[in-house]
Amino acid sequence: MRTTLVLVVFSFLGLISMPGQAASVSIQNLRMWRAPDNTRLVLDLSGPLNHKIFRLKNPDRIVIDIESASLSKPMPVMTFDGPIIKSIRTGHRGNGDLRIVLDLKRVTQPKSFLLKPFQSYGYRLVIDLDHTPDADDPEFEKDKPAAIESASPREPSTPVLPPRRSEIVIAIDAGHGGEDPGAIGRRYRTREKHVVLSIAKELKRLVDREPNMRAVMTRKGDYFVPLARRVHMAQDARADIFISIHADSLPKKRARGASVYALSQRGATSRLAKRLADQENASDYIGGILENKDPIVQKVLVDLNQTSTIVDSLALGRDILTSLKPVGDIHSANVEQAGFAVLKSPFMPSVLIETAFISNPSEEKRLRTHRFQRQMAQGIFSGIRRYVKRKDLRPLPRAVPSGTVRHNDETRVHIVRRGETLSGIAQRYGVKLQALRVANNISGTSVQAGESLQIPGL
Ligand SMILES: [Zn+2]
Repeated sequence: MRTTLVLVVFSFLGLISMPGQAASVSIQNLRMWRAPDNTRLVLDLSGPLNHKIFRLKNPDRIVIDIESASLSKPMPVMTFDGPIIKSIRTGHRGNGDLRIVLDLKRVTQPKSFLLKPFQSYGYRLVIDLDHTPDADDPEFEKDKPAAIESASPREPSTPVLPPRRSEIVIAIDAGHGGEDPGAIGRRYRTREKHVVLSIAKELKRLVDREPNMRAVMTRKGDYFVPLARRVHMAQDARADIFISIHADSLPKKRARGASVYALSQRGATSRLAKRLADQENASDYIGGILENKDPIVQKVLVDLNQTSTIVDSLALGRDILTSLKPVGDIHSANVEQAGFAVLKSPFMPSVLIETAFISNPSEEKRLRTHRFQRQMAQGIFSGIRRYVKRKDLRPLPRAVPSGTVRHNDETRVHIVRRGETLSGIAQRYGVKLQALRVANNISGTSVQAGESLQIPGL
């Protein structure tokens, strides 16, 4: 049988040179996580390693050769149900190298990288196998913008009114997942990622029951999603509100109660807020991303729009906090602020809810119960509804940025909503701030809610 070498990727990431000797690495564990769009394999290692990964055909398979390595215990051939991997087998090569073979159900492009030790996690080798994107995911498909067509210069004489979007979109973000378990309970070793997903699903059910609301989830199962990707998913779905759900830990066993957080552009409002933000932001290092290049996470927040979004986030947080009071203890009476990466969208009010402390044994016990999960979801949901009602949020036209009214084929008019800034509006429509000023004869930067602005053409 002829085999064809399709791709060779060498990875030298994280290599530590050890002159004079090739250190033997032991592979201690192998985990597999399946997301809608990829399958991730993670190998726990006794130290750094040197590896090659390549594809072979007839039959399709991926081979990972690891220099001078061994398995800490024999691994039987494993078979799988998923969409990509049929089976995994291992073998020793004569030169002391270890070979891992992934037999495939269909061709896929592998990516691999080494994660350096972080907190309690040692060296890990991550192998990502892309599936074809989950094209028929109805949650995220609904809002794929069709706007470009209506704005097309080819048919300027045919004004196309965008269809009315009939729902307010709530993005629900269950923290952590997959390789990143989040905080772990003391008494039952409960993993934060599992309880927050249950609460998130419960919240989705409540939101979807409302006639004018729809929920989208940034993760639906036990797999890792990078922080910036969570924000992008919500933005792509044109979410109006972003809710991140957590249940973190503190060394102090007695710490208890729910708290709500918003983004801060400066320092944190308390030591606890800073601590939790650091804990949450570590997710990318634990869950594993190759490198953090994303502008959302790294950007210095100078956008004026961010300031008004934070004002909205604080209002949303207060409404949720009020609604959580009947559910159980409240840890901080005010919405606290810190630099949470997952709350960095300048476009939608975003809050992070610490539902309870998983480090408190009695709260851990409650977090595991369906009853508490349901009550917590109900509390968050009431807060969202309170906010939506108070802000008089209405479903916005889909397929064009929020607030657009298309008067005729040539003019776009934006009705300013409370909290919006001129620079934010300019950014939203992709026009220069100066052009927006000129078109509307504005010399300063302030705009009034309810004012209508002409949006200069493209
Ligand atoms: Zn968390």
